[in-house]
Amino acid sequence: MNYKDYYAILGVPKGAPEKDIKSAYRKLARKWHPDANPDNPKAAEEKFKELSEAYEVLGDADKRKKYDVLGSDWQQASRQAEQQRRYRTQQDQTFYDFGNFGGGQAGGGPSGFSDFFDMFFTGVGKRGAATQSSAFSKRGQDLETTIELSLRDAYDGGKKSVSLQLEDTCSRCRGTGTVDGRLCPVCHGTGHVLASKKFEVTIPKGIGDGQRIRLQGQGGAGTGGGANGDLFLVVTLAEDPTYKRKADDLYVDLPVNLFDLVLGGEVKVPTMAGQVSMTIPEGTQNNRLLRLSGKGMPKVKGGGAGDQYVRLIGQLPQNLSEKERKLFRELAAIRNGKK
Ligand SMILES: [Zn+2]
Repeated sequence: MNYKDYYAILGVPKGAPEKDIKSAYRKLARKWHPDANPDNPKAAEEKFKELSEAYEVLGDADKRKKYDVLGSDWQQASRQAEQQRRYRTQQDQTFYDFGNFGGGQAGGGPSGFSDFFDMFFTGVGKRGAATQSSAFSKRGQDLETTIELSLRDAYDGGKKSVSLQLEDTCSRCRGTGTVDGRLCPVCHGTGHVLASKKFEVTIPKGIGDGQRIRLQGQGGAGTGGGANGDLFLVVTLAEDPTYKRKADDLYVDLPVNLFDLVLGGEVKVPTMAGQVSMTIPEGTQNNRLLRLSGKGMPKVKGGGAGDQYVRLIGQLPQNLSEKERKLFRELAAIRNGKK
């Protein structure tokens, strides 16, 4: 589609007063009327149509204002018109809806003027017209945003209500980018604003950092009967105060006393599924990792769960009593072979 410079077609400067536009059109229309050009009717007809189209826009104060604002950026404007349809739920909205004109065209269908004109002023994307023109049928854009989940969310899975900041159609200008022929002060002409949207998201059990959740049909709206795109939520797992996660395994630090390490013992360990008992074998070294099989994260693709590793952090006794000190000395002497 080519940009149409209606001012150049009528041979008038951009700021030309209405009467100059009118007289320029009249003069040129007389010159290029097909009846006045029997030698070259086809070229004359083309030219005459082009003049009519230019005058249709520049001869109408509202259309001219719209053209002046959006005209030079028309490609951007048409892209924005597409973007504005993200999350739009009303399927009946006109695709290239730059305003209310076009309603004057009988039936609201293609005008008989250029595609450029139709895009601006007759709403080619209207449902009826769009189904005739498969070129306008397009699947909506896939969108992506991040979602932060706690380890608990990822462990439990299931439904969760989340609020996401997403682009929405500007309500001030209804996505057109202009208000009374000027750039919209709210969205600055982009036609969309950031808005908070609530979604009911089904979180797969065991989902991990960087994995994506697909919300089918929640992406950009399709055009001309095309399906909506999808919305992808990229998961960021929030740091957990207790557990570190590596793939499907969880790691936890557990303070234990000296005697449990030396003599062996039974300790309580937190897991995502609740507290469990764990046996420490006699003579366990400090910082040793013990494994609790199947107590890690559920595997997102199914088939069990990872493991939980418990790092034993030995706590040495401090502030010994006189008796304890005496006994430790005795132990030390035995260890050193002095007794
Ligand atoms: Zn706006």
